Amino acid sequence: MSRFWSPLVHRLTPYVPGEQPRMADLVKLNTNESPYGPSPRALEAMKAAADNGMRLYPDPESLRLRTVLGERVGLEAGNVFVGNGSDEVLAHAFQAFFGHGEPILFADVTYSFYKVYCGLYDLPYRLVPLDEDMGIQVADYAGPCGGVVLANPNAPTGMALGLDEVRRLLDMHPDRVVLVDEAYVDFGAESAVSLVKTYPNLLVVQTFSKSRALAGARVGFAFAQPELIEGLTRVKDSFNSYPLDRIAQAGATAAVEDEDWFLDSVEKVISTRRVLSAKLGDLGFKVLPSQANFVYVQHADRDAAELAAHLRERAIIVRHLRGVRTSSWLRITVGTDQQCEMLLSALREILLRNC
Ligand SMILES: *Cc1c(COP(=O)(O)O)cnc(C)c1O
Repeated sequence: MSRFWSPLVHRLTPYVPGEQPRMADLVKLNTNESPYGPSPRALEAMKAAADNGMRLYPDPESLRLRTVLGERVGLEAGNVFVGNGSDEVLAHAFQAFFGHGEPILFADVTYSFYKVYCGLYDLPYRLVPLDEDMGIQVADYAGPCGGVVLANPNAPTGMALGLDEVRRLLDMHPDRVVLVDEAYVDFGAESAVSLVKTYPNLLVVQTFSKSRALAGARVGFAFAQPELIEGLTRVKDSFNSYPLDRIAQAGATAAVEDEDWFLDSVEKVISTRRVLSAKLGDLGFKVLPSQANFVYVQHADRDAAELAAHLRERAIIVRHLRGVRTSSWLRITVGTDQQCEMLLSALREILLRNC
């Protein structure tokens, strides 16, 4: 509390990011980063960018990056928005599209930043409960609202809706923006980007942080019809005209161009996820069917917070989220095969020892 803070700042409940511990030699499975690292071509492009032109401001429109992002999915630069991480893209979208007075709808268990943006921009929202299997039921999203936010695949469950369900949601709310946050879509779900040309109310948000292993560069993007892109651009240019620096623009562009590296790392994650899910099942965990680079698991009779603490003693960090519906679950990032084996053998020890 401070007498210098505005009333709004007093009311804020900021997002708490996953821990970035400063210890060496951790098996870090808590924030869904890629275990494989970015494309070597992206790293080279970033080094070259650092060597040339840093004296000058970057392209405020990130035109090259937006062009290659559009080309990859059959859209144009005018259908693409980029921001400093998809968190910034999401923030701009909340401010640009959701101030219509009625509550915004999103799941009770989903990315916790959505609530934070509602606080920052004073937007009402209504939490729509997941069903008892932790799934999203589109029928629960009917009725008047200020907009809909859908993480697909959802976080932290990892479960995804098919395109038919996304289409149903878009048809339900033709006069409201339906924001589909596809941070994890590359790990096996269907992207709604193919619906952009048909639906003026669709905003698809993606990121370089997970499947392209550039979390450190902070690059997010969105696909939509030009009307929505212009709305986002108006907010951006009223906030920060240069959200992406030269290094980030160069690295992200080269990462998009290295499709082979991208496909290869995504495939590795998917195949490790399959093995990890089965083996966690053998250890007595319920494992939700994940289409993301993490698994969400609940043990039949062991306390999740305690398991996380025991893992931490063995230098393995996973994510435990407090909350009525989440406190019995752990979210575990799919690491390399070797990291997952270390996790599994630690869990075997922990589960044997303290029965
Ligand atoms: C990681 C994540 C983001 C944020 O990604 P950045 O691009 O790194 O800001 C957005 N949405 C969800 C659901 C995420 O898990």
